[in-house]
Amino acid sequence: MNTTQLASKSFAQSDFWLFSLYIIGTFECVFWLFNAFLIIIELYDFPSIDKYRIQKHRKKLRFQPELVNLMIKETLRHQISTIFLTPVLYYLLNYFGHLDIHGPRPSWSTIIYQLTLFILAEDAIFFWTHYLFHTPWLYKAVHKKHHVYTQPTGVVSVLSDPWEGLQNQISIWLMPIVLKDKHLFTLCLWIVIRVYQTVNAHSGYDFPYISTQYWFPSIMSGALGHDFHHQHGKWNYGSFFNVWDRLMGTYRSSTNNKRN
Ligand SMILES: [Zn+2]
Ligand SMILES: [Zn+2]
Repeated sequence: MNTTQLASKSFAQSDFWLFSLYIIGTFECVFWLFNAFLIIIELYDFPSIDKYRIQKHRKKLRFQPELVNLMIKETLRHQISTIFLTPVLYYLLNYFGHLDIHGPRPSWSTIIYQLTLFILAEDAIFFWTHYLFHTPWLYKAVHKKHHVYTQPTGVVSVLSDPWEGLQNQISIWLMPIVLKDKHLFTLCLWIVIRVYQTVNAHSGYDFPYISTQYWFPSIMSGALGHDFHHQHGKWNYGSFFNVWDRLMGTYRSSTNNKRN
């Protein structure tokens, strides 16, 4: 084997390369599978599916070309930014602990315990930073860009000002970063859960069983709650749960949002 072959072999098998492949690959798969479905039901009218559209009183997005063009531009920008963020994430995950890439999968009890920590930390950080983003100065300077979309759809979940993008990444990754031992398998599962949650919240459709508020209605948030937030520019600041909103008096029953 010559030097070039050796170099390419070690790069292909390097931890950083595998990490990037799995992290970006998992994100792209879940994000685009869910969004492909939402794009198809946006482009073609299926009455059996359209009956679940939350903002039926408004035209579908495909009749609003300015918004669609903005979404395409911003989605491309986000896709490029993920490539640059992955090395930073890899460095931080290793700096504060050990990231296991090749080792055996952790036990399911460890995986469930860590995922529970990730979800609870994300939900708390997201609620409080989002709550602050709705104070007048921060709303105008940062968060307004996300609220351009009063009628959200899946891709809107990642469209925001770069400062808000950073807030999102911190809420998702702070707990995995500070945790001493983490495994790539658990991190990929975490991406599946978080991407599903946020694309569903922005989907614009109140699908029974698919939308998370149907799973544990008294504590979980979902598409109705976050759609209500986009329509009105306030209330329902949480991500996974509505518990912080209930405590802070910012919870609005998502059933109020139904327009049949
Ligand atoms: Zn908001
Ligand atoms: Zn949103």
